[in-house]
Amino acid sequence: MRQPLIAGNWKMNGTRSSVETLLLSVISGASAISKTEIAVCPSFPFLELGERLLTGTTIKLGAQNICTKEVGAYTGEVSANMLAEFSCQYVICGHSERREYYGETDTIIAEKVSICVKKGMKAILCVGETLSQREQEQTESVIESQLENVIKQLGIDIFNHIDIAYEPVWAIGTGKTATPEQAQNVHGFIRQKIAIHNTVIAEKIRILYGGSMKAENAHDLLSQSDIDGGLIGGASLIANDFLAICHAGDAVASQN
Ligand code: PEP
Repeated sequence: MRQPLIAGNWKMNGTRSSVETLLLSVISGASAISKTEIAVCPSFPFLELGERLLTGTTIKLGAQNICTKEVGAYTGEVSANMLAEFSCQYVICGHSERREYYGETDTIIAEKVSICVKKGMKAILCVGETLSQREQEQTESVIESQLENVIKQLGIDIFNHIDIAYEPVWAIGTGKTATPEQAQNVHGFIRQKIAIHNTVIAEKIRILYGGSMKAENAHDLLSQSDIDGGLIGGASLIANDFLAICHAGDAVASQN
């Protein structure tokens, strides 16, 4: 059985004080969560605060980005060693906002996944289609190509160290959520594609859903057989909303 993962992507939000308050509230509420793994991904400047407050708790720390290079003259970048030094265990790679606003290609994203795994962290590899791609019935071909490019560059075994997040771009931050059936169809497709390369990895790999997941829809989404958790943007900035999603993860895990 795959343990659910609920990961909060805090994006470029918060102040030192609001992030501290959010961390403390999530820590306090998470003591009631037993079956769901929880991770939070604050902005780089708050990783030290995250490390300090999360040490000794079950909540994992993650980063939202990583440099493909190990060290050197790369102004503005943050290396895998730096993230590992601050106890990051997860790195979000290939988020649609990075693909769209920062020109990250599948090649760059595969390099990010590679360096992250090399340094002992787990990548959350985001894939997903835009609205126009869905309308043109290209969802499966887009996702297949996003996955296959990583497999071609790094090999299938890297997927032992990856969680995948299916994030339909049209559902991110829009309040529009994929229906449980729409999401399940794509999650099932992703698992099948992985299975063509390796059935053991396909069975084991977690595929998270991301795109306006919130307390009200989390249970129905997480109940789908191939949805193993959530990557949560907006709702992760409010401790009670995020914790409600974690409780939904626990409720579904208890039924299985
Ligand atoms: C995200 O950006 O990864 C995300 C899922 O955002 P939201 O939950 O706000 O749609």
